[in-house]
Amino acid sequence: MIEATLARGDEAKKQKMTSEPEVGTDTKDREDALLDEIAMRHKKVLIRRTGVIHGTLPWHDFRNAITWRRAVQIIFVLINAYIATAFYFWVRHFETNAAGAPPIRPEGVEGWLPIAGLMNLKYALTTGVMPEVHAPAMLLLAAFLLTALLLKKSFCSWLCPVGTLSEALWRTGKRVFKRSLYPPRWLDIPLRSLKYLLMAAFLYVVMAMPAAGIEAFMMTPYGLIADVKMLNFFRFIGITALITIAVLMLLSVVIPNFWCRYLCPYGALLGLLSLLSPTKIRRDPDACIDCGKCAKACPARLPVDVNRQIRSAECTACMSCVTSCPAQDALQLALPPKKIVAANGDTAQIAQRWRRCKLSGAMVAAMLALIVGGIIIGAYATGHWQTPVSDQVYRQLIPKAQMLGHP
Ligand code: SF4
Ligand code: SF4
Repeated sequence: MIEATLARGDEAKKQKMTSEPEVGTDTKDREDALLDEIAMRHKKVLIRRTGVIHGTLPWHDFRNAITWRRAVQIIFVLINAYIATAFYFWVRHFETNAAGAPPIRPEGVEGWLPIAGLMNLKYALTTGVMPEVHAPAMLLLAAFLLTALLLKKSFCSWLCPVGTLSEALWRTGKRVFKRSLYPPRWLDIPLRSLKYLLMAAFLYVVMAMPAAGIEAFMMTPYGLIADVKMLNFFRFIGITALITIAVLMLLSVVIPNFWCRYLCPYGALLGLLSLLSPTKIRRDPDACIDCGKCAKACPARLPVDVNRQIRSAECTACMSCVTSCPAQDALQLALPPKKIVAANGDTAQIAQRWRRCKLSGAMVAAMLALIVGGIIIGAYATGHWQTPVSDQVYRQLIPKAQMLGHP
C-alpha cells in the first residue's frame, strides 16, 4: 500500500506544488497544510479531490452529496407539510358536516401508517391478494424497504421528516454548544438494542395475526379511519405524550439522532434489511491518507477511517463522510469495486477501480425518486392508490372518531 502510494508521488507532488497552501493566519489554510502533514506522517501523499476547497467540496458543486441530500430532505418536508395541511382540511370537512364535495384526500398520508402497512404486507404475502383498505400504506412501506435493500438506510437521512428534524436539532445543538454528547459504549450498545426490541414486539404482534383477522380489523370503523385517528392523536395530544416528545427533542439537541439511534422501530427494520444492500461506504486504503476526517463527520460514529467497508445497520448513507474526505477516490458510497491494482498508484488507475461502481449524491437522489415515485405511479395507474372508502362512510365515521376505541 505504501509502495503504491509512494509510486504515485510524482503526480501528487506536481499537484501539491500547484495547490500547496501558503500557511498564514487563515485557519482553513492551516487545515490544508495540516492535511499534507498528516499524509506525510503516514508516509502517504494527499492527492486532493478536484474542486475541493479547504478540504471539502463547496455546497454549489454538482458533486456535493450533502447538497443533494438537503434538497431531497427539504422537498420531503414540504410534501409532508402539504399532506398534513390538506388532510386536516379534509377531516374538518367531514367533522363540520360541510356542504358540497370534500377537498381531495392526500393519499400520501398513508405513509404515516406503518403498522397498517405492515399488517397489509403480511396479508398480501400470505393471501396473494391486494388489500382493499390502506393499500398505499403497504405500497409506501414496500418502497421504503426497497430503498433499504438497495441504498442502505437512506430513508432515514434522505426522506424521513423525523430524521430531518432530528438532524436539524443536533446540528443546532452542536453549533450552540460547540460539541455533541455521545453516551459511552457500555451504555450506547444496550440503548441501541431498544429499537430492535420495539421492532420485534411490533413484528410479533403483526405476524401472530391471521390474514382473516387483518382483513376484519381493516374493515372495522377504527381500521377504516386509522389515518384520522393518527391525526387526532397529534391534534388532541395528551400532556404525557407532549412531555415525552419534548424530552426526546431536548435529548436530540445534545445527542445526535437520539430517537433514530435508540428508539425508532421503523429505522431498526430498515437497518436490518440494509445489511443486505450491495451499496456500502467503501474506503480505498491506497488513496486514503488516514486523516480521520470521515469518522469525525459520521453522526453514527462508525469507524469509517479504519474499515474498508461499512457494513453496519447504523449507516444511513448520509454521505457526510464522503463529502468530508479530502482525498481523491478514497471514500465512496459504492458497489464492490473492480479489482484493479493501482500498480503505479496513479489517480487514473485508482479512479478506474471505482468507475461505474460509485454512486454520487445525484444518483442516490434519482434512485430514491425512481423507487418511491415509480411505486406511487404504478399504484395510481392500477387503481390501488385512491381509497375505496366512500365519502358517505367517512361522513358517518369521522365526526365520531374520538369515541372509537381500538377493537
Ligand atoms: S458511514 Fe458515512 S454514510 Fe454511513 S452514517 Fe456514517 S457518515 Fe453517514
Ligand atoms: S477516507 Fe477518511 S481517513 Fe481516509 S483520507 Fe478520506 S477522510 Fe481521511
